[in-house]
Amino acid sequence: MDLKSFFQDVPVGHARYGVVGCGIPYTLSPAMHNAAILRFGLKAAYRKIDISEPEWESFLSQKDLLSGFNITNPFKERAREIGSGPSGVEWGFVGAVNTAHRPHLWVVTNTDIEGFRSDAESHGIEFGERHILILGAGGAARAVVGSFLLKNRPFPKSVTVWNRHPRRAEEMVGGFPLGFDAVRRLNLRVVRSETDLAFRSADVVINATRAGQNPGDPPPLDPATLRADQSVYDMVYHRETELLKAARARGCLAVGGLGMLVNQGALAFELWFGDELKKLKYDALELRRVMREAAQNAKKETL
Ligand code: NAP
Repeated sequence: MDLKSFFQDVPVGHARYGVVGCGIPYTLSPAMHNAAILRFGLKAAYRKIDISEPEWESFLSQKDLLSGFNITNPFKERAREIGSGPSGVEWGFVGAVNTAHRPHLWVVTNTDIEGFRSDAESHGIEFGERHILILGAGGAARAVVGSFLLKNRPFPKSVTVWNRHPRRAEEMVGGFPLGFDAVRRLNLRVVRSETDLAFRSADVVINATRAGQNPGDPPPLDPATLRADQSVYDMVYHRETELLKAARARGCLAVGGLGMLVNQGALAFELWFGDELKKLKYDALELRRVMREAAQNAKKETL
C-alpha cells in the first residue's frame, strides 16, 4: 500500500493516524478515533490500514508519513522493532505492542495491558488469588499475562495457557523470565488438552483467540464444561460470540471485549493528543463515552 496516496485527500495541516493489521474489516478503531477527533476539534484523520503480511516491511518504510498508529493482529509481536519502549517489567516481558507514537523518535507501547485489566475489574472480575485460564498465545494473550504483573494489583494463584498450536503457547510462557519474583508468582504453565484439570478448575476463563470473530466459529473450549461460578472474558468485541452466549446461559459472569477496546483506544488517543487535550481541559470520562458510543454504533452497522 502506498500510504501517501492512501491519505492524499486529508487536508494540509491535518495529522495522519491509523490502525495497521491484516484482514481487519471488522475493526471499530476508525469509528472510535474519528468520533473523538471530531468531538475535541482536532486536526487529524484516522484510517484502517489493512495490508497483507508481506506488505509489513513496506509499511514500516513509510511510517514517517504518520504521526502515530495502532498495531493489530498479526503484527503486534513484530512491531517491537519500530522503536524503543517505556521501561517497566510488565511491558518489557510482554513482547507485543499495539500503539506507536513519536514524541521525537518512534516509541511503542501496549495499551491492551491496562485496557484489559481495568475493564475486566470494572465488571467485577477478580484475578487475585484465583486460577486463570488463558485461551490463545498471540499478542492479546501476552497482554493478559502482562496485566497480571502490574504493580499494586493482587497476583492470581495460577495462570494456565492453552493454544491451538501448543508450541506457540510454550514459546510465550518460556519468554517470561521465571527468575523474576513477579513472574514466578504467577505459576505460569501450558496445557495441551481440554481434558486437563485446569480447564475445569479455572475461576476465570479468558478468550484471547480469534475464535468467535466470524459467525459459526466453533468456540475455543467446550461450553458444556462452563460452571456458573466462573467468570468468562471474551476479547472479541464486534459480535457476541458463541462462548459468551453459552457463558451467559450457564449463569457465568460474562464480559465481551468492547470495554477493553475503548480503554486501549482512549489510552492511545491520550498519548497522541495529550498536550492538546490538556489545553482543552478535557474530561477523560467524556473521551471514553464518545469512543464507546461510536464503537457501539459502528458495531451495529457491521452485524
Ligand atoms: P494474534 O496475535 O494473531 O493471535 C491469534 C490467536 O488466536 C492465536 O493464539 C491463534 O492460535 C488463535 N486462533 C486463531 N484462530 C483460531 C481458531 N479458529 N480457533 C482457536 N484459536 C485460534 O491476535 P491477537 O492480537 O492476539 O488477537 C486475538 C483476539 O483478541 C482477536 O479476536 C482480537 O480481535 C482480540 N483482541 C481484542 C482486543 C480488545 O480491545 N477487545 C484487543 C486485542 C485483541 P494459533 O497460534 O494456534 O494460530
